[in-house]
Amino acid sequence: MAPVAAGGGDREIGVALLGLGNVGAGVVKLLEDNAAAIRARLGARLVVRAIAVRAPDKKKRLVEVDRALLTTDIEATLSRPDVDIVCELIGGDAEAKVAVESAIAHGKHVVTANKLLLARHGTAVFAAAEDKGVDVYYEAAVCGGVPVIRVLREGLASDRVENIHGIVNGTSNFILTEMRDKGTPFAEVLAEAQRLGYAESDPTLDVSGGDAAHKLAVLCMLCFGAMLDSDAIHKEGIDTLDPRDFAYAEKFGYVVKPLVIGRDHGRAVEARVHPTMVPARWLLADVDGAKNALYVTSYALGGSMYYGAGAGMMPTAMAVVSDLIEVARNLMAKAAGARPTRRHRALAPKPLLPMTEIRSRYYLRFSVADRPGVLGQITTILGNHEVSIAQVIQDSERDPGHDSGATVFVVTHEAREGDVQAALAKIAALPIAAAPPRLIRIAE
Ligand code: NAP
Repeated sequence: MAPVAAGGGDREIGVALLGLGNVGAGVVKLLEDNAAAIRARLGARLVVRAIAVRAPDKKKRLVEVDRALLTTDIEATLSRPDVDIVCELIGGDAEAKVAVESAIAHGKHVVTANKLLLARHGTAVFAAAEDKGVDVYYEAAVCGGVPVIRVLREGLASDRVENIHGIVNGTSNFILTEMRDKGTPFAEVLAEAQRLGYAESDPTLDVSGGDAAHKLAVLCMLCFGAMLDSDAIHKEGIDTLDPRDFAYAEKFGYVVKPLVIGRDHGRAVEARVHPTMVPARWLLADVDGAKNALYVTSYALGGSMYYGAGAGMMPTAMAVVSDLIEVARNLMAKAAGARPTRRHRALAPKPLLPMTEIRSRYYLRFSVADRPGVLGQITTILGNHEVSIAQVIQDSERDPGHDSGATVFVVTHEAREGDVQAALAKIAALPIAAAPPRLIRIAE
C-alpha cells in the first residue's frame, strides 16, 4: 500500500498518527475515502508519514495500512522533519501528556481527541503551545463528531455563555434510554450495552460520570475561561437508579437523563455531573440512545442546541480530520500558532461552587412504614428546612428489598442543596424510615 494521503494539490502536509485504534483507523479511512473532497477544500495533500502503535504485529486492525508506516518509537516520529502535525489518539493520561508535550517542544502542531489529557493537563499543554507558537486543536474531545468546540470557539465568539446543559456520554444515555423504555434494571442493560459494543469492557469511567466530568471541564474552560479541578467536579453515576424512578419521573412530567451542567457564578463555577430529571418538553428529553447533545444558553443568542453522534469510529474521525484540515489551512496561510483558539494565558483557575450552595428543584423518594402521620413527619421536616413542596404522591407499593409499607414521592420547588441534604439526614434517622431517601435533581 502507498502512504496514506488525502488531496491532490502540490503541497504536502505531513501528519504523524499516534494510535491506530478505533479513532486512528477511522482517520486513515476518512483521509482515503474523502481524499478528493479534502483536496478540493484544502488545495494540498494530507500525507500520513508514520503511525505509532503499541503492538505493530497485531494481526487484526480495523483498517489496512502500509506496514512500513508502523512504529513503536513515538519520540523518533515526533522529531521527523517531514511531519508538520501530530495527531494524538493513544488516549489515557501520562503517556499522552509526554507525547503531546514532546511534539510541542519539537515545534509540531497537535490535534488530539483526548479529554482526559485536556481536563487534567490543559493548562500546561496550552501554555507550552502558546510559548512555542503552535496550534492545539481538540474538536473530538467533547461530543465526538458534534462540532461543539468550534461552535463555542467561533460561532459564539461574540457572545457570553451563561449556562450549559449537556448529554456528553453516549454509553450512559443508551443505558438510561433502555431502562426507561424496557423497565430493565441497570445491570442487565449494561451487560447488553457491552454485548453490543457500546460500553467498554471496563465501563467505570462512563457509568460513574468520570468521563463526562472530564468533558465538562473542557467545556467550562471554553465557555467561562475557567480552569477547573476536573477530579473535584461533583459526579454521581447512573448505577444507583431504580426503574421506579423512571415511571415516577414520567408521572411528574420529566425524563431522566445523564446530564452535565455548567453555570458561571462570577467568582466560582457550578459544574456537576449526575442523573437529572429534565422536563419532557425540553429538546434534551428527546436525545435518546447513544446520541450526544449540548444545550447552550447565551446572552445574545439565547438557547441553541447541538446534537449528533458523540462517539464511534467515523463520527470521531470526522472531527479529528476537520481539525487536521484547519491546522493545515493555518500552515498554508502562515498563521499556524498565531491565532490561538483562545488566549490560554487569559484562562484562570476558578473554584467550584460547593454543592451545598447550588439551587435546584428535587425529586425525593422515601421508603417508609405505612402508618398514619408518616407523610406529615416528612413534610414538616422539609418545611423546617425551607424546602417547599410542589407535588406529593404516596404509593402503598412496598419497596422491594426493604421492609417498607409505602413509598412517598416528593417534587420540591427550588431549594438550596445544603438545606435539602440536612432535611434528608433528619428523615433518614426517623424510626419510620425503611431505607435511605433517594434524591434526583430536576433541571428547570
Ligand atoms: P483505542 O481503540 O484503545 O486505540 C488506542 C491506540 O493507541 C491503539 O492503536 C494502541 O496501539 C495505541 N497506543 C496506546 N498506547 C500507546 C503507546 N504508549 N505508544 C504507542 N501507541 C499506543 O482508543 P480509541 O477508542 O481510538 O481512542 C483514542 C482517543 O480518542 C482517546 O483519547 C479517546 O478518549 C478519544 N475518543 C474516542 C472516541 C471513540 O468513539 N472511540 C470518541 C471520542 C474521543 P495498539 O493498536 O498496538 O494496541
